[in-house]
Amino acid sequence: MKYISTRGQSKPLSFSEILLGGLAPDGGLYLPEIYPKFSAQDLNSMQSMSYPGLAFHIISRFIDDIPKDDLKAIINKTYTKEVYAFSRPQQKAEDITPILKVKDNLYILSLSNGPTLAFKDIAMQLLGNLFEYVLKKENAEINILGATSGDTGSAAEYAMRGKKGINVFMLSPYQKMSRFQAAQMFSIQDHNIFNLSIKGVFDDCQDIVKAVSNDLNFKRDFKIGAVNSINWGRILAQIVYYFKGYLAVAKNNEEVSFTVPTGNFGNICAGHIARMMGLPIKRLVVATNENNVLDEFFKTGMYKPRDSQNTFHTSSPSMDISKASNFERFIFDLIGRDSKKLNALWKSIDQGGNFDLNQEGVFEKIQAFGFTSSSSTHKERIHYIKEIFNQYKIIIDTHTADGFKAAYEHTDENVPMIVLETALPTKFEDSVVEAIGQKPERPESLKHLEDLPQKFEIFDNQVDQVKTFIRQNV
Ligand SMILES: *Cc1c(COP(=O)(O)O)cnc(C)c1O
Repeated sequence: MKYISTRGQSKPLSFSEILLGGLAPDGGLYLPEIYPKFSAQDLNSMQSMSYPGLAFHIISRFIDDIPKDDLKAIINKTYTKEVYAFSRPQQKAEDITPILKVKDNLYILSLSNGPTLAFKDIAMQLLGNLFEYVLKKENAEINILGATSGDTGSAAEYAMRGKKGINVFMLSPYQKMSRFQAAQMFSIQDHNIFNLSIKGVFDDCQDIVKAVSNDLNFKRDFKIGAVNSINWGRILAQIVYYFKGYLAVAKNNEEVSFTVPTGNFGNICAGHIARMMGLPIKRLVVATNENNVLDEFFKTGMYKPRDSQNTFHTSSPSMDISKASNFERFIFDLIGRDSKKLNALWKSIDQGGNFDLNQEGVFEKIQAFGFTSSSSTHKERIHYIKEIFNQYKIIIDTHTADGFKAAYEHTDENVPMIVLETALPTKFEDSVVEAIGQKPERPESLKHLEDLPQKFEIFDNQVDQVKTFIRQNV
């Protein structure tokens, strides 16, 4: 299996060759040259598989340069009930992404039972183990540099803590994260995890990361790498739970729909690929919040990213994105993998412009790919948190509430709808209290999280201070 770039100007590479990198040299994103296919018969045979069994069955079709036994061991060590321990009482932790029935034909797929209580753990934990394996084989090291406003950084740190050959330098805005998020990251004591608290906002952190990465000598000398949302390994890991959710709900190869709270389009891109692989998916519903660039696209065919001044801070903050980094992967498939056309479309985007797929004559194809969309306001999210609690005694977080609003709008009669739960409610306690007047239950082991000793260093908003710190600590 080789991986090709959406822009068509980079050499096809194997899985291990693209695992540690970001963008392809031509500025594109990597995708497998073909999608492996699963028939109805295959799906029947996958019914009885455990989560790691299913993950190996699917992931091994995309990786041909890691010996099967090694890959199996990596996957078995990643997906354990000890790591995904925060399932609800009525669920089985060993299902890793257990299903929760809300009512007939409406389900929650719990993706947030890992260490940081958000779905990013599912992919990041696998990435941590794959990175360690590949680095060891090549006798290499990497210093991961990133910026976070909360969720991504903590998922990366929990995945990379204690790993050989890996250091993490994570920048976050000083005193701008929630108390829970800060405690989650800063309480990690491992010697290879460094929290850099920057006196500024998230964009300042991101600018420092860009400045350091653009210093090519520094980047080479200090082996600077990233684990951003365009990493193919993250998408690959996420394909598995669409199969898991499907198999838990469909018993006769019938069609099922999924609703996905969406920001960078990574999660739902995995759903799109699962569908391309033969999973009977009727609808893929893109749920957005007030930052509704993608909702606008799926309704009109016009893709018009916004700048950070026009991106709102909302009560589902992990979806506050106005330029979805994985969107290019879907458009590549939508336009029949025509790299020339893709280059033309993204030339406009990269210059701060937009494109209109009606003019390209391909907007009608969106329906055939199963996509539809919705957006919600804070008031609507609060309404759905209240509604789902009052009717079904289930507490959901604000991101999943975006999903419920979209799911109710796009449910077809007799087609099961699965809403992906992208965070546990305890992570966004304030909105839950606003909606239902009570705090969601915290897992026992996290009850005193905010009281644990914290390890972080405070910096002025200056690139050189960060570089000096990296130099002193690698
Ligand atoms: C990251 C995140 C999302 C958005 O996922 P994408 O893959 O970026 O679309 C949604 N909800 C939560 C809680 C997240 O952490």
